[in-house]
Amino acid sequence: MEKRDFLYEGKAKKLFRTDDPDLVIVEFKDVATAFDGLKKESLENKGILNNQISSLFFHHLAKENIPSHYVKTLSERDMLVKSLEIIPVEIIVRNIVAGSLAKRMGLEEGTVLKKTVLEHNLKDDELHDPMLNRYHIYALDLATPEEMDTIETMALQINQVLRPFLLKMNIVLVDFKLEFGRHKGEILLGDEITPDTCRFWDAASGEKLDKDRFRREMGKVTEAYQEVLRRLQEVD
Ligand code: UDP
Repeated sequence: MEKRDFLYEGKAKKLFRTDDPDLVIVEFKDVATAFDGLKKESLENKGILNNQISSLFFHHLAKENIPSHYVKTLSERDMLVKSLEIIPVEIIVRNIVAGSLAKRMGLEEGTVLKKTVLEHNLKDDELHDPMLNRYHIYALDLATPEEMDTIETMALQINQVLRPFLLKMNIVLVDFKLEFGRHKGEILLGDEITPDTCRFWDAASGEKLDKDRFRREMGKVTEAYQEVLRRLQEVD
């Protein structure tokens, strides 16, 4: 598969056309950003780690019949995926209180939620990804009610699959962000599943194995990503 014209550059990834109009190549960069891009640093090999981590998660989800854009891993940094018309709504799934939910609601980080919480954020950095509900989504024509039903069902299934999978590796899935898109009339999971987009806590020590180490200046960021990859490779 040939990497052709550059299509788009996001904060952590670049997209390239291929010789097949239905497929694109995602290149994982080493850049880490937080706070809507205000904090930005290069973390050596983060892109390589995230490409492998996301590939292993997409593989596992495929085994559980959850369709994603993933086709195959091409090289250290490159992943071949189906081209999606991205729905500009980020789906946040929460099992345990952390981050913005703790701040917004005055809750203590680490509180176990009685029920999984789903949130929707508009994918728009300039507006700081404001939270939306289904009324906004329909009023702004971002997705149909049927599409939102599919997306929410898939998001909850992904949580159901990933929680026990991660627990086998002694990792608690605290919360995570998903993106979905349309491909030939079907809704597919897109983007990535990595420590950039999930909160992973070591089940025994509570140690953070995710981007909070970067956001909160805790150090040993890529070491934590490496540890997640190591545990994934062992279990898979
Ligand atoms: N998240 C993400 N991208 C975003 C916002 C959130 O990947 O633009 C992920 C984040 O890594 C965490 C979950 O979604 O796993 C919930 O994030 P939260 O709303 O607590 O955001 P924070 O302000 O702490 O990043």
